[in-house]
Amino acid sequence: MRPLTFRLIAIITSLALIGVIFTQSFWVKNAIKHQEEQFNAKVKIALKTVANQLFDLKSDSLQREAYYCQETCTLNISGMFTPKFAVALDSLICVEFNCMGLHKEYIYGLYNEKGIILPEQNAGNFELIKNSRHNISLSCIHRSGGLHLGVYFYNQRGIVMRQLAGWIVLSVIFTLTVIISYTLTVLSFLRQKKLSEMKSDFVSNMTHEFKTPISTISLASEMLTKPQVVNDADKVKKYAAMIYNENTRLKNQVEHVLQVTAFEEQRITLNYESLDLFEALKMVGDVFDLYARESGGKVVFDNQATVKKIYTDKIHFTNVVSNLLENAVKYASPSPVIRLEARDHTFRGGNGVLISVSDNGPGISPEYQRHIFKKFYRIPTGNRHDVKGFGLGLYYVKTIAALHGGWVQINSQPGKGSRFSVFFPEK
Ligand code: ADP
Repeated sequence: MRPLTFRLIAIITSLALIGVIFTQSFWVKNAIKHQEEQFNAKVKIALKTVANQLFDLKSDSLQREAYYCQETCTLNISGMFTPKFAVALDSLICVEFNCMGLHKEYIYGLYNEKGIILPEQNAGNFELIKNSRHNISLSCIHRSGGLHLGVYFYNQRGIVMRQLAGWIVLSVIFTLTVIISYTLTVLSFLRQKKLSEMKSDFVSNMTHEFKTPISTISLASEMLTKPQVVNDADKVKKYAAMIYNENTRLKNQVEHVLQVTAFEEQRITLNYESLDLFEALKMVGDVFDLYARESGGKVVFDNQATVKKIYTDKIHFTNVVSNLLENAVKYASPSPVIRLEARDHTFRGGNGVLISVSDNGPGISPEYQRHIFKKFYRIPTGNRHDVKGFGLGLYYVKTIAALHGGWVQINSQPGKGSRFSVFFPEK
């Protein structure tokens, strides 16, 4: 996909996602409002039914005497009700509110402008009940007393939210799932894109790297077919050596690529054996000392490790050290001064050996340090392609160290050289 198309799709999808979140919150807000209105309507109906029933009690001549004391009512309103009235009011409210699905999370009061008349225990909550939105006039049972019945819910918003909790939770879960999946998709796409860019860099690098030895071999072998060269032993030797060297270079490069392909296909198995640490390091160190000397430098080997034998895969262990030394020679040239060191090291309670390769090269700035162990990664050098490579060496080192249960780390500062340390635990 072209970058512009991807950016366009990402922008449109992000906007659509914001739209979905916005619509979702609008619907949730609306649902809460609607539920609240429904709640208020239910309370209103329950209160009206209670008032009607109180009126029925008063209208019924048989019942009236049991609930109302008619003589005192004009003098003192609280004296107008019998104790039986208080019980009847309580049970009427309880039954009606239960019927409406409104459970006991409220206080009620029969009041006039002076205060709560019934029930007495709610006298202290006069202000709450009076100012509550759920009030009804009881002028039907006492015309001149300014009598009201009020109900106050302690946590009306909470009750409403509880009724909608299931839907709200589901809506939040689905919205979050969509956001997370979208983010993961975009991240994975970007990762794939980066990998594909790195792969195409790798292919162009590889082609470049193979082209030189192939054309040198081709030229040298063509020369060997010429009669004037065939008769000159020195020239034959020179061209044969050229072919041999370039072929070795090609072989090493193919080996490199094959190693990494083997990783990708999970074909790598370590063949552990007991290895003489000093000998193994000395051998690799000596080879790279020769290369370094060609560029006017040297490799100094310093073995401080008390460990004599290391239990490892010989080939991969040697490749790891070679890769680090090869990089040191490559990047610190001309005049690479390299130190190959080995010493005892303890990591998380386990003993092992720490092998370090330090150089006097250009160093690596912190922003690149966390990337250099990634597959195909090469530090950008602009248009300069003076140091050849595939970006696989350090990836290989890291993978092999991890397969041994160890690790690799870098200490480097631009302009002050680099130091790569690999830890191999004792088996
Ligand atoms: P390459 O084949 O490109 O050398 P590596 O995986 O070995 O691949 O290294 C990755 C990158 O890390 C290199 O492109 C280089 O920029 C940087 N690098 C590795 N070793 C050194 C070093 N000793 N000094 C400076 N830069 C280094």
